[in-house]
Amino acid sequence: MTMHRRHFLRSAGLGLPSLALLASLSACDDNGDNGGNGEESGMPGPSGRKKVIVVGAGISGLAAARDLADRGHEVSVLEARDRIGGRIWTSQKWAGAPLDLGASWIHGIDGNPITDLAQKAGAKTVVTDLESATDYLATGHEIEGAQAQALDRWRKAAANALSAFQKKDDDDASVRSVVQDAVGWSKLSDSDKALVSFALNDYEHEYSGSADQMSALYFDDDARIKGKDVLFPGGYGQISDYLAKGLSVQTGQVVQQIDWNSGGVTVTTVKGAFQADHVVVTLPLGVLQSGAVKFGPGLPKDKTTAIGKLGSGVLNKCYLRFPKVFWADTDWLEYVPDVGKYGQWAQWINVARPTGQPVLLGFNAGDVGRTIEGWSDAQIVDSAMSTLKTIYGGNIPQPTDYQITRWASDPYACGSYSFTKLGATSDMRNQLAAGVDGRVHFAGEATDRKDYATVHGAYRSGLRAAREITG
Ligand SMILES: Cc1cc2nc3c(=O)[nH]c(=O)nc-3n(C[C@H](O)[C@H](O)[C@H](O)COP(=O)(O)OP(=O)(O)OC[C@H]3O[C@@H](n4cnc5c(N)ncnc54)[C@H](O)[C@@H]3O)c2cc1C
Repeated sequence: MTMHRRHFLRSAGLGLPSLALLASLSACDDNGDNGGNGEESGMPGPSGRKKVIVVGAGISGLAAARDLADRGHEVSVLEARDRIGGRIWTSQKWAGAPLDLGASWIHGIDGNPITDLAQKAGAKTVVTDLESATDYLATGHEIEGAQAQALDRWRKAAANALSAFQKKDDDDASVRSVVQDAVGWSKLSDSDKALVSFALNDYEHEYSGSADQMSALYFDDDARIKGKDVLFPGGYGQISDYLAKGLSVQTGQVVQQIDWNSGGVTVTTVKGAFQADHVVVTLPLGVLQSGAVKFGPGLPKDKTTAIGKLGSGVLNKCYLRFPKVFWADTDWLEYVPDVGKYGQWAQWINVARPTGQPVLLGFNAGDVGRTIEGWSDAQIVDSAMSTLKTIYGGNIPQPTDYQITRWASDPYACGSYSFTKLGATSDMRNQLAAGVDGRVHFAGEATDRKDYATVHGAYRSGLRAAREITG
């Protein structure tokens, strides 16, 4: 998720679990950890001790597992990938420059549980400032004076149009149609269309859905973000690693089927079947939509409707490493492409500021992000470089290396994070979150009505699912 100026402007039937299989659960630990369970006080007695399987070792699964394990329950986390963290993924490819391929920021440090975790984990954070930005036009010229005022005006016009629309009792419409109607799109000059398009694309970077698909009524139900944004020079992975300490996590366990009845649950992976009293399912919305995991005896209609109607969007990253820094010394670089190149390479982070490394990070979101994902690495780097050459001239050095994400085609994410699509409502997130038959519990960013699309929303959802089990 990138955070934008908009906020600034707004100031099937089963047998009961067999003892042999239950025993195999406690032996489940391929990461060498001891499965230690925290505090001795307040532990449930033998009859209150639950066996719980958590599907997914992203932040929501780790939060649920940590909470349950600390309360003395027997928890096993089954993770498809060969690593933990899910959409928190710190690459160590470049020595001395850990880079986040998934989440980067704690969005709004005030009252944010990730702020506390960062302190406990001893993870250093650095503030990035939305106002520290250099903006450029497609001509390569810096946006100043009257053009800067025009850009500000169109951003405010877009924000005001959406907020006015939300106050009316009207049928829903897409973010794009509400903004374009309000600004009189068809009569605008090409240069104003480029500025309005840039403002629209801002919403795609933040919420990951296409402006054509995002619900104007419900896209921004994120009232709880307060305070500065910070990122981790040492990587977000410090947070997932901290939470996972001592937990029993099995990687390489691709879950294929989840069955339950009044006696318990069975989770079937490519490697075998695991039984427990409860399961916490933290599969990303895109994975639920793909149908890769089957549920028996089947999920309730409300939940399958929510899965079908909410959206799984795209935000992709492209890190470029250069021999030296040649760009402006602000946190953000922003580029307003011509309307014909809508959304391409509009947002950049100057990674040199927080880390001292000569690295730039370019983002692509929504439909553009999805399209670019289909390009080869060479095409993506060429396209990024052509934008940078437009701004900084043809003599800038070639990158010495790059790192590119493709979250939409990642089979264990099937998208970057959820958005509220036209045809969906915020209530559907509650339906996605609802437990089934007191056995199957759901967590993950998409289930958090207020803070979806964020790490802290995912974290809170994991704690909520754990409390459903412990009462
Ligand atoms: C590019 C990008 C940038 C982002 N930027 C930010 C940001 O700056 N700040 C912020 O707050 N948020 C950001 N987010 C969103 C944030 O990363 C997510 O909201 C959060 O990490 C989701 O956590 P989760 O536990 O819900 O899901 P995940 O982390 O996806 O965890 C789900 C787990 O389930 C596993 N899994 C999937 N299928 C199976 C299966 N069949 N069997 C077993 N396991 C399976 C996955 O491998 C994964 O580990 C960003 C996301 C992306 C992709």
